[in-house]
Amino acid sequence: MANVQQQYSYPDARGYFGPYGGVFVAETLIPALEELRGAFETYRNDAAFLAEFENELKHYAGRPSPICHARRLSEKLGGAQILLKREDLNHTGAHKVNNCIGQALLARRMGKPRVIAETGAGQHGVATATVAARHGFECVVYMGTEDMARQAANVYRMKLLGATVVPVASGSRTLKDALNEAMRDWVTNVSNTFYILGTVAGPHPYPMMVRDFQTVIGKECLTQMPEAFGRQPDMVIACVGGGSNAIGIFYPYIPCENVRLVGVEAAGEGIGTGRHSAPLTANAKAGVLHGNRTCLMQDENGQVIETHSISAGLDYPGVGPEHAWLKDSGRAEYVAVTDTEALDAFHALCHFEGIIPALESSHALAQAMKVAPTLPRDRLLLVCLSGRGDKDMHTVAERSGIQF
Ligand SMILES: *Cc1c(COP(=O)(O)O)cnc(C)c1O
Repeated sequence: MANVQQQYSYPDARGYFGPYGGVFVAETLIPALEELRGAFETYRNDAAFLAEFENELKHYAGRPSPICHARRLSEKLGGAQILLKREDLNHTGAHKVNNCIGQALLARRMGKPRVIAETGAGQHGVATATVAARHGFECVVYMGTEDMARQAANVYRMKLLGATVVPVASGSRTLKDALNEAMRDWVTNVSNTFYILGTVAGPHPYPMMVRDFQTVIGKECLTQMPEAFGRQPDMVIACVGGGSNAIGIFYPYIPCENVRLVGVEAAGEGIGTGRHSAPLTANAKAGVLHGNRTCLMQDENGQVIETHSISAGLDYPGVGPEHAWLKDSGRAEYVAVTDTEALDAFHALCHFEGIIPALESSHALAQAMKVAPTLPRDRLLLVCLSGRGDKDMHTVAERSGIQF
């Protein structure tokens, strides 16, 4: 694997991470993706673009996000030290805004006055509506009717921000159906519309572009860790839905051989029950979904199967193609954490540190809490705390049998 690390330069020119990624879309979308690829290629090296991106991250989103030592929690566990990269402190409460800011700046430079997005729990929809308001774009967000019912507060937030939320009643009426509808809109309105995709999935160049915008997370860690803790961490742990917060913190660490990279999927009710959202951990076969080839939960006929997780943000049958490649190449490891373990970690962080984490982030934390007691006290576990848990109040209360 030394090879992969030293010369890591993925994807290739056609958007492949080993056998994963690529462009599997209707012919009508090819020109739009070419236009996007060209624009990103230009602006990723443009000093004025990068300066504006940095400025927005700093003064609008509130970066850099700090790294905070979970002192009481680590003490309680009696092993390695748990450190939290606080993406929950960003404007809109999660890492998603990093990517939305980047894509919005690109949309403006490409002269597109209208942006569209898909959303599951509503976090990406809110982040998109937020940057659309900031730039004066028309904004349309596609959301499954099942998710709209579960996440009414986020639907209202998007409306307050001036977005139109379009209900999607096809299929399972959740994220994957919303993504299909957003792609359909894009085909029809490609001349004036920019599609702000929310994770490291979709056709090339999205997995690469979203990664590059999210690497701000890991780049900050590279400087913050030596400053505050004297060295780089022994392990970096992040939850994986599509995989954007994980790749954002992993990517700058890929060349650091001594840093273990651990992605945490949602085991739901347990991998053995089939009710989970953990394609990598369950060794699912490769298949094509949403414009790319990746590791995908499917039945023997290749039909995508229903997924389950207590956290809506991890409830996705596929995974970003780069994670499938990092797993095959051995550079990153993937494990899964159940709903119950994530809930326990959620309550532990509330109780010991005064931080209410997102249920997605609680999966990464649960993994850190599992391994910390098995390691010496001088080891450093860096956890990406991808978002705050305000959105999850109802889910947690319901599970605890509390009504409000
Ligand atoms: C959306 C979301 C995730 C999952 O998305 P990734 O692309 O896998 O990062 C994780 N955490 C939070 C807080 C989210 O809102």
